[in-house]
Amino acid sequence: MSATTALPVADAPTLRRYVRQLARTYPRMLWGALVLHIGAALASLAAPRLLGGLVQAVEEGTTTGHVDRIVLVLALFLVAQTVLTRYARYVSQALGEQVLARLREDFVGNALSLPVGTVESAGSGDLLTRTSRDVDQLGWSVRWALPEWTIAVVTAVVTFVAAISVGWWVILPCLLGLPPLAAGLRWYLRRAKAGYLREGASYSRMNATLTETVEGARTVEALGLGRERVAAIDGDIAESYAAERYTLYLRTVFFPNMELSYLIPTVCTLLLGGWLYTQGSATLGEVTAATLYVQMLIDPVDRIVSILDELQVGQASLARLLGVAMVPDDRTPTGRVPSGERLDADDVRFAYVEGRDVLHGVDLQVAPGERIAMVGPSGAGKSTLGRLLAGIHPPRTGSVTVGGVGLVELPLDDLRGHVALVTQEHHVFVGTLRENLALAAPPGTADDSLRDALDAVDALAWVDLLPSGLDTVVGSGGRHLTDAQAQQVALARLVLADPHTLVLDEATSLIDPRAARHLERSLAAVLHGRTVIAIAHRLFSAHDADRVAVVEDGKISELGSHDDLVEAGGSYAALWDSWNGKH
Ligand code: ADP
Repeated sequence: MSATTALPVADAPTLRRYVRQLARTYPRMLWGALVLHIGAALASLAAPRLLGGLVQAVEEGTTTGHVDRIVLVLALFLVAQTVLTRYARYVSQALGEQVLARLREDFVGNALSLPVGTVESAGSGDLLTRTSRDVDQLGWSVRWALPEWTIAVVTAVVTFVAAISVGWWVILPCLLGLPPLAAGLRWYLRRAKAGYLREGASYSRMNATLTETVEGARTVEALGLGRERVAAIDGDIAESYAAERYTLYLRTVFFPNMELSYLIPTVCTLLLGGWLYTQGSATLGEVTAATLYVQMLIDPVDRIVSILDELQVGQASLARLLGVAMVPDDRTPTGRVPSGERLDADDVRFAYVEGRDVLHGVDLQVAPGERIAMVGPSGAGKSTLGRLLAGIHPPRTGSVTVGGVGLVELPLDDLRGHVALVTQEHHVFVGTLRENLALAAPPGTADDSLRDALDAVDALAWVDLLPSGLDTVVGSGGRHLTDAQAQQVALARLVLADPHTLVLDEATSLIDPRAARHLERSLAAVLHGRTVIAIAHRLFSAHDADRVAVVEDGKISELGSHDDLVEAGGSYAALWDSWNGKH
């Protein structure tokens, strides 16, 4: 379990660029929603005017017929407002869903094109949190917060215009509410983004620790690390608690301050209006309408401010989701085509953690058809070298080429047709057996080819016994495949991808010994006719190889045939002796 470096988070200009680009993608829906919201807000403005007029009329003496007419008009405006609001919300929600779908697609695309090395060093916890919590949070923002916020802004602007149309003096009480509102907002917004980012990061860390503990449960149990793991999780929970407490503190200061800022304008409008009325500068109807408008302003302004909070959370999530796209790609396809199948590592150096190389200048030329066994003490760098030779990690300096073209220059699909890494880790995807195999085959591959591949790895017999054959649904929730069967499916995929060179890493061998013999036959069939670099954990497989490469301390210290190396009397000879002695 290595130290994790978090994935990057997008900066403000990137966010703005992305949002602008999204807005331009759906212009019709965006403007449609806006126009409908403005219509709804305008319809809502009739009530205070009409009520003000009513108060004025009653004061001056009126007929019941006049009152009835006013009430009827009021009702008509209410109906109009309801209908407009309904469609405005409908369009906003539809827009929200479209935007969300786009965001999801973009995110999945970005996550899938992350370099494997980055995913490994960031740990799956961070990526998992981003796919689950951040996507949820953003969904909430886009579906709910953003439309509500837009409605609130439109309503506030329109209501304010209506209020000052009653009389310019209304501006004064409104202005009095502004300083405490602005000061509160400034205080809050300065702290909120960092606070919420810290909250998100703390969830990522907690997830990372939990996934690591669960994935490494055997190791934890075997080494009695339970207490340490619990302590680590406790630490993460404490950090997450502190982060949540901090944002809660921000809210407990901010919201009461807001309430106060809202009360000031209403009270002042009433006071000022009352005074103007006694001076004969405003009618009772105007004071009523003005006070009602200012009161009506509270709700949208409050929503603007409190939804800002939600939007901050959403913005932090968006920054984390877009951050995934900022990881530089470690592959740069150049379109060059390899000539030949020769694999060549030249002065390869590599570090998982900056400044700590685990490979220190490795040279290795592998001739087509050759069998090379890599041996050496655990931790020497065998698996790492294997992964570089298979193009999973690019070298820090130096090069790994096939037929003269760097592995990082080949698009992933092409690369897999040249070199592939075979480990005991394999994954059965949810889907039919055909789909599982077709992953590795060119589109439109005929069933016959799939069946040939299964036959090559000795798997056709059991596949034919399945009730639906290639159409059988496998993977979680589908038909359960035994480990050996899953391994055979993985091997059949290799036959379909048909790379000329295989890097074999048996480091994580968990295979059931009863199935091993059977699988060895399947594997031998796959290896037949290909170049093989095998990381040998049992020396007898080294004995059969054309050449043996001894890896020690991140370098190839000895290279030659088994017999030559035994004769030379170096590390390999010593290993061979001790192994023979033991068995
Ligand atoms: P071998 O296969 O010979 O046992 P490895 O290639 O697995 O050796 O490891 C070589 C060195 O690189 C070791 O010191 C190991 O701790 C380190 N290492 C391996 N994988 C990682 C990783 N994902 N992150 C950081 N260090 C790693």
